[in-house]
Amino acid sequence: MVAGEGAIAPLSEDVGRLREAVEAFRRRPKTGRTQEQISHELSQVRVICDVMELEFSDLASEFAATDEYDQQGFDSPISWLKQVCHMSSGAAGDRVCAGDQLQRLGQSADALATGEIGFAHFALIARTAAAVGGRFDEVELLRKARKLNIFPFRNSCLHARHAANPERFVNEEKEGVEARSLTLTTADDGVVLVQGILDKVGGAALRTALEPLAKRAGKGDHRKLDRRLGDALVDLSMHALDNGVPSRRPHLQVTTSLETLLGLSGAPAAEMEFSLPISAKAVERLACDCSVTRILLNSDSMVIDVGRAKRLVSGPQSKALRVRDGGCTWPGCDRPATWTSAHHVVHWIHGGSTDLPNLVLLCYRHHWMVHEGNWQIVRTDDGCIHTIPPLMGFGSRSREPD
Ligand SMILES: [Zn+2]
Ligand SMILES: [Zn+2]
Repeated sequence: MVAGEGAIAPLSEDVGRLREAVEAFRRRPKTGRTQEQISHELSQVRVICDVMELEFSDLASEFAATDEYDQQGFDSPISWLKQVCHMSSGAAGDRVCAGDQLQRLGQSADALATGEIGFAHFALIARTAAAVGGRFDEVELLRKARKLNIFPFRNSCLHARHAANPERFVNEEKEGVEARSLTLTTADDGVVLVQGILDKVGGAALRTALEPLAKRAGKGDHRKLDRRLGDALVDLSMHALDNGVPSRRPHLQVTTSLETLLGLSGAPAAEMEFSLPISAKAVERLACDCSVTRILLNSDSMVIDVGRAKRLVSGPQSKALRVRDGGCTWPGCDRPATWTSAHHVVHWIHGGSTDLPNLVLLCYRHHWMVHEGNWQIVRTDDGCIHTIPPLMGFGSRSREPD
C-alpha cells in the first residue's frame, strides 16, 4: 500500500480479537458504579493502555528494523509512524526506542504490567538505557521510577546520563545550542508572531527574566499566564531601550505629522521603524515620555526631532519623580521605577508642563490603559492616585489589555 491511498488492510486475527474485546468493554453497563469503583476502573484501564503501548513499541521496533517504510515511500520508520499512526515524532521515537530496549528491561516491563510505573516512565528508562549503553543500572533507575512522577523522574534520568557519560551529555547540549533560532513575522494586521528555539541555559535565562515580570499586578489583574508572559517580554524590551548602554541605546523611532500627534480628525497614521503604521493614540503614549523614543515630524519632507526639550523629564526632575513615586503609581502595581515611564497627566502636546505635579510614573501596561484603554488617572493634592475605568459609550467599551 502506498501512503495516502487510504486502503485499510483487513485486521489480523489477534488484532481482530483485541478489537472485539475493546468493543465488549465499551458496551458494559456504565451506571450504578460508586466513585471508588470508577477510580479503581480508571487506574486498571490505564495499566492495560500502558501494556498495550509496550506491545505497540515492540511491534514498532520490529517494523523499524525492516525496510517496509522505504518500500511505502517514507524516509524513515518515524515518518511512517507519524503519518500512519498519527503520532508526534517524539512519541514515535519513544516507542521505537522502548521496543528496542525491551529485552534488557525485563524488571521495568514487569513493573509496568503491575501498574507500579507508567509507560512514560518506561520510555524514559529506555531512552536512558540507549544513551548510556553498558553503564546502565536498571535497578537503581527503576527504584526512582517507582517513587517519582514523570517530571522529576526525567531529571533523574538526565543525572544518570550525565554520570555515565558527561562527554555525550555535553555534545547533546551542543546540539540544543545549534538548534537555536528566533523568527519574528509581521502579520497582515501588524501583530508580530514570535517563534523560536533556545538552548537550555538561554531558555532558563529568558524564563528567569520573564517570570518575576509576569506575576499578577494586584487583585484586579485577571490576565492569563500566556498574556502576562507576552506583556513581560515587551516590558523587558522597553527596559532595555530605557536602560541600555547609552552609546548603543536603541530608540523606538516614530515619524508622524503634527496633525496626528494632536489627534486631529483626518490625520494619517504614524510610522514606526520595524512596524506597520501605528495609531495616533499609540503615538500619543510613546511621545508622552520620550526617553525611549525619538519622535520625528515630517512636515514639508523635513525631519526634525520635535519638542524634545519640552517633553523630556530633566535629570534632577526624573530623580525627584522616582523618589516621590517609587515605581508604577497604579494601585496594586509593584513595578519599580526603572520599569516605568513618566506619564504627563495633561499631555505636553496639549500644553501640559513637564513638572513634577503633572507627572506620574506608570509601567508599560498601565500607561497603555491610560492612553489607549481610556482609563483616567487622578492624582489628588495629598498624593493619592485614583483610577477611573472608561465609561460605557455608544461604541464598544475600551478594554484594558487583560
Ligand atoms: Zn502618558
Ligand atoms: Zn503598573
